[in-house]
Amino acid sequence: GRQTGKSKTFRIATDTTFSPFEFEDVDGNFTGIDVELLHAISEDQGFTFELQSLGFDAAVTALESGQADGVIAGMSITPDRQAKFDFSDPYFNSGIVMAVVKDSSVDSYEKLKGRTVAVKNGTEGAAFAESIADTYGFTITVFDDSSSMYQDVLSGSSAACFEDYPVIGYAISQGMKIQMVGEKQAGNSYGFAVKKGQNEELLNYFNEGLRNLKENGIYQEILDRYIVE
Ligand code: GLN
Repeated sequence: GRQTGKSKTFRIATDTTFSPFEFEDVDGNFTGIDVELLHAISEDQGFTFELQSLGFDAAVTALESGQADGVIAGMSITPDRQAKFDFSDPYFNSGIVMAVVKDSSVDSYEKLKGRTVAVKNGTEGAAFAESIADTYGFTITVFDDSSSMYQDVLSGSSAACFEDYPVIGYAISQGMKIQMVGEKQAGNSYGFAVKKGQNEELLNYFNEGLRNLKENGIYQEILDRYIVE
């Protein structure tokens, strides 16, 4: 019969590159905070999973269509998404910020007038950029992955991008020639998502595992490997 519970292998979809949450390290290993958290939680809870690195929008689509059982991808818990998905307890606080190439003259949203702004398909950053594009008179170029989005900013094609500030902060700490501009926008925390009403079991494993990892210090150890204040 159909496998259920902990004998089942859950299909978890994620982004391709969203460091420090998921990315390929110098040795070609797929790693990051999300990846390590998921491994630690599955070990704690005794379930198995198969991780599919699809890209952010593709991961969300796979979850919606039932091709994935869960998504972990620095995915913000937004009211819109809560209509379609059930989210775990939040596991990381985030929000959106504008980033420009280092030493850019663009130091405010006003300076975006007549320029192009790069965003990643289906993200909270993209939705925020769309919400202010008319007001500030810029056009939007959409990319499927963060690397292409950054490249467009670094090359000068786009004047700025909108991205989660922990991700921009990490990129800067890794030597990327970009800087944040202005205030962080209020944004939402990250959660693990399953299809609404369809996978309470997996959600419970995640929440229980997360609680245990917070208690035994492993959660903090994982964060400390990537985030240096
Ligand atoms: N946190 C953002 C969102 O959920 C971006 C996630 C990502 O690009 N992987 O929309």
